[in-house]
Amino acid sequence: MRLVFLGAPGVGKGTQADRVTAQFGWPKISTGDLLREAVRNQTELGVEAKKSMDAGKLVPDSVVIGMVREKLSASSCQNGFVLDGFPRTVPQAEELLTILTSRGLKLDQVINFRVSRQDVVTRLSGRRSCPKCQSVFHIEFAPPKVSGQCDRCGAALVQRSDDKPETIEARLKVYDEQTTPLIAYYQAKHLLSDLDGSGEMPVVYGRLSAVLRGLGAQ
Ligand code: AMP
Repeated sequence: MRLVFLGAPGVGKGTQADRVTAQFGWPKISTGDLLREAVRNQTELGVEAKKSMDAGKLVPDSVVIGMVREKLSASSCQNGFVLDGFPRTVPQAEELLTILTSRGLKLDQVINFRVSRQDVVTRLSGRRSCPKCQSVFHIEFAPPKVSGQCDRCGAALVQRSDDKPETIEARLKVYDEQTTPLIAYYQAKHLLSDLDGSGEMPVVYGRLSAVLRGLGAQ
């Protein structure tokens, strides 16, 4: 199944995409993860992208489109994929359509995760990540067993530089201005399913897997 997960930063798209990958096997393609990897590796692209990311802005369409095009051509994506955090602008969505159409493929569904603004801010500001294995925790909702330490590899957890309050505000503004037009865009194509993203992670996953099964996922 070919899916797009849409929604504001902090709605839980990435966490839910990981669970979908674990259950159904469709790889997750997260442009945020790919960009953070480029930043860690200090590639030319990473050094450039970091400036936009730290300011809460989007990196140029051409950069992310190139990354996604390359990922989608991998054999692991032939039976499906979950795009997490892409597309984020209408030009990105148009480009995705072109890439898929050129291969005779179509998107199956766009899941639009909906969470109140207050909950998004709480989720983002409490999020802590492992710089080594990239596991994600939350100080209140999914705390590590030992405070400040990754359960999986023991590394000291950090707050993503773009999860600081002033950057959260900028990211939400960018989402409102540049990404929300995608809701109408995919609605018009009859591809959009709204999903209540509030509540605990397993509860949200229950709702999501019901939608996916309704679409024929096994
Ligand atoms: P995320 O982990 O999805 O919240 O992404 C973190 C940051 O990476 C965003 O705030 C953007 O700066 C950048 N980014 C991720 N995906 C995209 C995209 N599709 N288009 C442009 N910038 C992106």
